[in-house]
Amino acid sequence: MIIKDQNEIVLEGKTFEKYISAEEIDAIITRLAEEINTVYKDVASEIILISILDGSFIFMADLIRKLTFPHTIHFVKLKSYEGEESTGHINYILDLQTDVRGKNVLIVEDIIDTGLTIESFVEKLSNQEPLSVQTCTLLSKPEVHNDIVPIHFIGKELAPEFVVGYGLDLNGYGRNLDSIYKLKI
Ligand code: 5GP
Repeated sequence: MIIKDQNEIVLEGKTFEKYISAEEIDAIITRLAEEINTVYKDVASEIILISILDGSFIFMADLIRKLTFPHTIHFVKLKSYEGEESTGHINYILDLQTDVRGKNVLIVEDIIDTGLTIESFVEKLSNQEPLSVQTCTLLSKPEVHNDIVPIHFIGKELAPEFVVGYGLDLNGYGRNLDSIYKLKI
């Protein structure tokens, strides 16, 4: 990664410009956590958060530290992207290691683009009879997914553009950036 200046970086030969600062990300997560706390604070039955790896690991870590109700966390690893394009085909690389039957599930995603990943995962979970399933994403591209799956908690909506940083990568690189950058065209 080449850092050109405060606002531009070069990753894998492509130029990205700063789009969402670390401070703005923190404010978004604080607001999301307040919304989630309000919904789940009086839920008596078990609550589990399931994060979809790899991209959401930083978001999940920051989000759960702002949650005030009892919950456990779990991870699945799904893959639909090659480079900058969604392949539309979902592979389960790491499957869920817990039983969701009779539990309230909150799925935590980094970004919803076509919505195929989360749609496929919600469908898979629903077959296991959880008490409830809700979805949370830091970023959403509504013009791409057209609300094919209900998203209950949305951090920020984006145009159909490719972003990196704060867990999101290009070919594995750029996850460590504390701000989010968008591809410059
Ligand atoms: P979907 O199935 O909704 O098309 O894609 C979901 C996954 O694709 C996300 O979890 C993320 O890993 C990847 N993805 C979608 N849009 C972007 C993007 O703009 N940048 C990066 N780095 N990954 C993305």
